[in-house]
Amino acid sequence: MGWRMIVAAMMLTSAAAGAAICSDDMRIQMHPSMDQRQQSMLRQWLVEAARTVSDYGGAVPVPCASIEVMTANRGQGPVPWAQVIRSGQEGIRFYVNLDYSAEAFRQDWTAMHEFSHLLLPFPGNDAPWFSEGLASYLQYLLLGRAGILTQEQALSSLDGGFRRGRAAASKHNKSLRNLSGAMWASRSYQRVYWSGAAYFFHIDVALRRLPAPSSLQQVVADFVACCRHSGRSWSVPQLIDQFDRLSGTSLFSHHYRQIIDDRGFPDVSDAYAWLGMVADGASLQLSPEPELRRRRTQLVMGAPAVKPGARPAVTGRWQ
Ligand SMILES: [Zn+2]
Repeated sequence: MGWRMIVAAMMLTSAAAGAAICSDDMRIQMHPSMDQRQQSMLRQWLVEAARTVSDYGGAVPVPCASIEVMTANRGQGPVPWAQVIRSGQEGIRFYVNLDYSAEAFRQDWTAMHEFSHLLLPFPGNDAPWFSEGLASYLQYLLLGRAGILTQEQALSSLDGGFRRGRAAASKHNKSLRNLSGAMWASRSYQRVYWSGAAYFFHIDVALRRLPAPSSLQQVVADFVACCRHSGRSWSVPQLIDQFDRLSGTSLFSHHYRQIIDDRGFPDVSDAYAWLGMVADGASLQLSPEPELRRRRTQLVMGAPAVKPGARPAVTGRWQ
């Protein structure tokens, strides 16, 4: 079946199921060619990722999210391609290769990345560094939080992303402001995604170092509670302002000004030192010092984020 035919078949299935009431917090629709065993395996994979992300955000960020799963006949890995759906009912469309095992799907970062996108409203196409940065920062941390990766693996994978971003930054030698809007034309995905991830990593650590420690998770959960369902549209500068307000700091706007016109990759050395992470050749070394180990555990495993009384009208977790 050609690519267009697959889309057409999927739309027919969706139309047939369109009258179904959204009884869960997601509505998962599988391509009709998938058998029961495959559908059950994919459902488990999606629910685990969605639950981890909604736990991070303190609530379901998109009630009745529309999750479509199609088969892919080209591309690499268990999930060669996925995209967030922003028009109509928000959700995600995944293209999957069913030759892979359930465990290969669990270990793939794509579902954590795509569900993390739904924590924020779509802020337009002119500054993808912000939304791609948050999703890229969270994709490995949340695999660690779900117990799919060890903490060491999660942090090494994050470090690997920063390395790819740093290498791409020296190749492109242009500012993030310049490259972000032209990301598709300049094919500077690694530079843009991982610079954004470094931005959120730096701020997550800076929030934890405050006299009254907070975290990026707390700010994101507060945003989901106050603003995700407001129905208004948000630009990246407006999101940055709101994150500053919610955190009671100017960390988001201050660090934005530090990195946006820099031709180099954002500096993460301070955050690495505070966490006892040392980029050593091609590998990441982790300090065995108990206090530094505790900080890393908190970064990966987190803690309950939502303040009592700050929950939105829609609560609970994706399931
Ligand atoms: Zn993305």
